[in-house]
Amino acid sequence: RLSPKELCERCLRRSQSLSELNIFITLTEETARSQAAKAVNRLKGENPVLNLDGIPVAFKDNFCTAGTRTTCASNMLRNFVPPYNATMVQKVLDSGAVIVGKTNMDEFAMGSGSIDSVVGPVKNPWTLLFRNFSKKPVSHDVCCRQKTVKKDSIAHGIRKHNIHTDVPELGKSEASSSPTFVDNSDWLVTGGSSGGSAAAVASGTVLAAFGSDTGGSTRNPASYCGVVGFKPTYGLLSRHGLIPLVNSMDVPGILTKTVSDAALVLNSVAGHDWRDSTTVTDSFKPVVLDKNFSLHGLHVGIPKEYHAPGTSPVVLDVWRQAADLLEREGAKVSQVSLPHTQHSIMCYHVLCCCEVASNMARYDGIEFGHRANQESSTEGLFAATRHEGFNDVVRGRILAGNFFLLRRNYERYFLKAQKVRRLIYNDFQQIFSEGVDVLLTPTTLSDAPTYSWFTQQDSRLRSEQQDVFTQPANMAGVPAITVPAALSPRGLPIGLQFIGQNFQEQKLLSVAHWFE
Ligand code: GLN
Repeated sequence: RLSPKELCERCLRRSQSLSELNIFITLTEETARSQAAKAVNRLKGENPVLNLDGIPVAFKDNFCTAGTRTTCASNMLRNFVPPYNATMVQKVLDSGAVIVGKTNMDEFAMGSGSIDSVVGPVKNPWTLLFRNFSKKPVSHDVCCRQKTVKKDSIAHGIRKHNIHTDVPELGKSEASSSPTFVDNSDWLVTGGSSGGSAAAVASGTVLAAFGSDTGGSTRNPASYCGVVGFKPTYGLLSRHGLIPLVNSMDVPGILTKTVSDAALVLNSVAGHDWRDSTTVTDSFKPVVLDKNFSLHGLHVGIPKEYHAPGTSPVVLDVWRQAADLLEREGAKVSQVSLPHTQHSIMCYHVLCCCEVASNMARYDGIEFGHRANQESSTEGLFAATRHEGFNDVVRGRILAGNFFLLRRNYERYFLKAQKVRRLIYNDFQQIFSEGVDVLLTPTTLSDAPTYSWFTQQDSRLRSEQQDVFTQPANMAGVPAITVPAALSPRGLPIGLQFIGQNFQEQKLLSVAHWFE
């Protein structure tokens, strides 16, 4: 039995012993220790235990943390220390949690691999099952299998303030083949852009982490790292203090080992925030998960357009088996159609770049962040600052966005994409109005790819094709969750995604909880 203080020390030790995975950009050891000490005092006192008392949590480095560097993994914000906390950060602290650090990510959350970071890529903890990076032995218990992860869930932590290490080793022997690494320096990608947060949870460094999800950035790495990744309905969680990528699609994402943990975190952070006018004002009814939840009367839709080219046969097989299981256990499972889904990625590309072009305008070397040493003219200062501050991916999107927004292109690209977005939204509303409760789809095209394979792909494919299953939910604002479903023949996790109706988190999480 561990106290919050011991639990915190254990997490900090684990993060240090796994430093080669490059999970954290900043570790907040000192503040974590003082938050843990406060939790110890609270637990001693008469006061009721807070929802997340003593629970170690990490935040993606695009959530503002007062007094702690918030870099977005970019040169531009390398030394940026915000004067205020994002609402998510504040709510988690108000619930008693201990913030262990800020996690690594793709620069400004643009990417699907967590490889485009100014501090270098994040490595998937599952790599450790096949390879030790360092000379010193690394414990294999870092990647917990589904059946064992429940033991160190938050609920358990709250009851006992304990973190378990009695996780059986998962040896290579259980897999019929292993990933093909091209050489000793190759490794498995975490997915992205919230790869650091997914790896932090998968490695047992924290019990919950926050990511952001604009096109799949929480669900994609969750699937590759074998954890739960939850994107709530747009407007349920405040974006105040989350540095924007695409304001109309960004949602704070929750990464945990179990669905009940995700519900616990959701209940602590959901609800209206006057600082974010897009949050809904209706009062939030906490999600309560019932272990006797029955599938009878539930209608599960299988969208036929989600048979995307490039999906691995293993993923398709897991998807089919899951659909069969739901049907056998009493759900009505039927094929449905979302005809405009096929345009989602194209449409996202246009809208994302347009919002990026506008959002990034604030980084001019004068108001925030990096300033180049170029004082010959104001324009020269802007150009040099932005050239030095942003990576190629960010600069490419700014250029594309400005092109789409030119007066002669605005109608042809931006307005057209907005219209297509509405059609995609209508598709979802249509099938939900016909009685479908949730959709079941793959989360990713395959299990976690190796870095060597991933970087051989065209960079557009890398950052967008990867989101083919996750991105439409952001277009429509509907909630979606990925749950670890199986291990591939290579011994790596494969997640499946449930998509629900707007603000129907109770139903969505109940189905996911039943399934996990
Ligand atoms: N991969 C997508 C992109 O690069 C989505 C990223 C995200 O969800 N933050 O834009």
